Amino acid sequence: MTTIGFIGLGVMGGPMAANLVAAGFDVIGYNRSPAKVQALIDKGGRGAASIAEAVRDADVVITMLPDSPDVEDAVIGAVGVLAGARPRLLLIDMSTIRPDVSRRIAAAGAQKGVRVLDAPVSGGEAAAIEGTLSIMVGGDTADVADAKHVFEAVGLTIAHVGAHGAGQIVKAANQLIVAGNIGLLAEALIFLDSHGVDLDPAVRVLGGGLAGSTVLERKAPGMLAGNFAPGFRLALQHKDLGIVTAAAREAGVVIPLGATVAQMVAALVARGDSDLDHSGLLKLVSELSGRPLST
Ligand code: NAD
Repeated sequence: MTTIGFIGLGVMGGPMAANLVAAGFDVIGYNRSPAKVQALIDKGGRGAASIAEAVRDADVVITMLPDSPDVEDAVIGAVGVLAGARPRLLLIDMSTIRPDVSRRIAAAGAQKGVRVLDAPVSGGEAAAIEGTLSIMVGGDTADVADAKHVFEAVGLTIAHVGAHGAGQIVKAANQLIVAGNIGLLAEALIFLDSHGVDLDPAVRVLGGGLAGSTVLERKAPGMLAGNFAPGFRLALQHKDLGIVTAAAREAGVVIPLGATVAQMVAALVARGDSDLDHSGLLKLVSELSGRPLST
């Protein structure tokens, strides 16, 4: 049986670890706040009180942490994954972080005989619960093959997209599309409402045509209900748009629509809305037009 150390049991990591347990893996979970470890134990997993304890017996370690410094600290830090890893450990970082940090972690792992993949995900909390995530993987082909059974327990669409860091580049593109899509959905809802259109059937018919999208399907109901509980926090969307903006600049390409939505998300974060779902873009669009949704 493969033993998996799972570090970071939040909105995404919690259900992903539970799906690995359900698929028959021996999962040892660690999270900074212990209540989330208990939730995994209640689902049949095991709990660890430290990163070292989660890593000690693991064949595979998965990290699902908020941001680049969290992953760097948890992996390269003095009491991090690499300090206690068994030889040939497979470390799969499924967090969304900067591609250069993923490459640095892969290099640090190689020095310790630890194999590293960057494997960020898309699909949000719903897909994490359903086990239907899209997983974009960067790293060596043989390591991706070894991780296949792990990926298949949490995801549906799995693609090896290149060398170390490539998974993060594809995830950055994903976030560019998602944020832009939500921004335009927000504008469309305010626009429709301002013309007195019935919003529920309007959204339904839009969903059946070329304007249809997973964003529309999954986010419009909450937006219409004014429910902005995360989901995917605006703080994380802000982080991801920072990643895509920097990576585009580094490559010498421009993302004018992305830059606009990045500034809108930055405004929401600056005024204290970081913990709303990213569909909270509707609040800003609504205020810019001086009108709330009438539903
Ligand atoms: P989250 O904040 O809900 O979960 C992160 C968890 O990590 C928390 O439980 C926190 O206590 C824990 N943690 C933080 N630092 C730690 C440390 N040093 N050691 C142990 N535990 C630590 O975040 P999330 O929404 O689950 O997102 C995780 C990652 O996945 C992020 O990079 C995010 O961008 C990405 N992601 C999120 C979604 C989504 O819809 N929420 C979708 C795709 C990708």
